[in-house]
Amino acid sequence: MIRDLNSQQIAKYSRHICLPNVGIQGQKKLTNSRILIVGLGGLGSPVALYLAAAGIGTLGLAEFDKVESHNLQRQILHKNTFLEKDKLLSAEKELSALNPEISLELHASGILPDNAVELISQYDLVIDGTDNFPTRYLINDAAYFAKKPLVYGSVYQFEGQVSFFNPCNGGPCYRCYFPKMPKAEEIPNCSEAGVIGALCGVVGSMQSMEAIKYILGIGECSEKSMILIDSLTMNFRKLYLEQDSHCPLCGDQPEITEIKKAHYTFNCQTKHETKQEYKMDLNPIEISVEESKKLLDSDPTTLLIDVREDHEREICSILPSIHIPMQSIPENLDKISKDQTLLVHCHHGMRSLNVVNYLREKGYKNAINMRGGIDQWTLQIDSSLTRY
Ligand SMILES: [Zn+2]
Repeated sequence: MIRDLNSQQIAKYSRHICLPNVGIQGQKKLTNSRILIVGLGGLGSPVALYLAAAGIGTLGLAEFDKVESHNLQRQILHKNTFLEKDKLLSAEKELSALNPEISLELHASGILPDNAVELISQYDLVIDGTDNFPTRYLINDAAYFAKKPLVYGSVYQFEGQVSFFNPCNGGPCYRCYFPKMPKAEEIPNCSEAGVIGALCGVVGSMQSMEAIKYILGIGECSEKSMILIDSLTMNFRKLYLEQDSHCPLCGDQPEITEIKKAHYTFNCQTKHETKQEYKMDLNPIEISVEESKKLLDSDPTTLLIDVREDHEREICSILPSIHIPMQSIPENLDKISKDQTLLVHCHHGMRSLNVVNYLREKGYKNAINMRGGIDQWTLQIDSSLTRY
């Protein structure tokens, strides 16, 4: 049932109500709508704040993570006072303070293959505020099966993307652009890539705008285009695309006909099996930071190789170690002996695992990855290092 606006609401939303094509009827649509936001980080923060302020009647919030200090550079929903606490509770407090009359539905386990379709089905549309590929593909696929539109946004370093996927209305889905999820080793961990906080604000605000237009039924959502933002040049481009008849999800002969858990994990199984195999011959492909410390202490000939970039090395380093940024490894193989144990680290362990796999292919059978990288080292071994 459509609820009417009371006099306080008419006053509060007067700047919406006086807009042509919005009016009281438009505000009623917003006030009676239900939007699911997945992820309350860099993108989810501005999305949640703007939608709460706009008076979206019910906001579903799906997030399982906690607030960490390095989030605060861009995740403007969260404050210092909520460090180490649930982002969901932090969001609840801030959004209720901003607009006490909206309903918040909290989904503390986030979005999972088991609950994705059912969760999205309960809302008018879903907004992707996440920062990783498995969840991005999961939301895309689940939104398609739930027959709900998806407002997509992503940021990478200085670049952003926004689109409105509504394949049930004839537009493309995310898989029409990018059919298959990249392999874990093909992409840098998002937190390793870095991002400017203000760019999250740009992309998140645009996602909110797309959602509001859809609910109001005004203007045009970017249903058949992806907006590409280069924040360094302020170049906004539109990439036009039709629905792809060969799309594995929304195409004529889809390969994906239901949500299967195995589709939305990085190929960890293979890594795990490899790990077990190496364990059996006492040559693990990666070890924890505690094991790394023991190895370095017990075998001084172990060479620690830092494959991060120059600017990261300036922030902190584990000494003694040699520094060869990942991209420069192939041209520096002559500096590395095949006879000694090589322990490789980066920030979180993704790039260094890539390097270890490469080194092993080149015959460096003693190359080992430090799982969790210098970030874990700082947490568990040496807290005097600056964490970033
Ligand atoms: Zn598609």
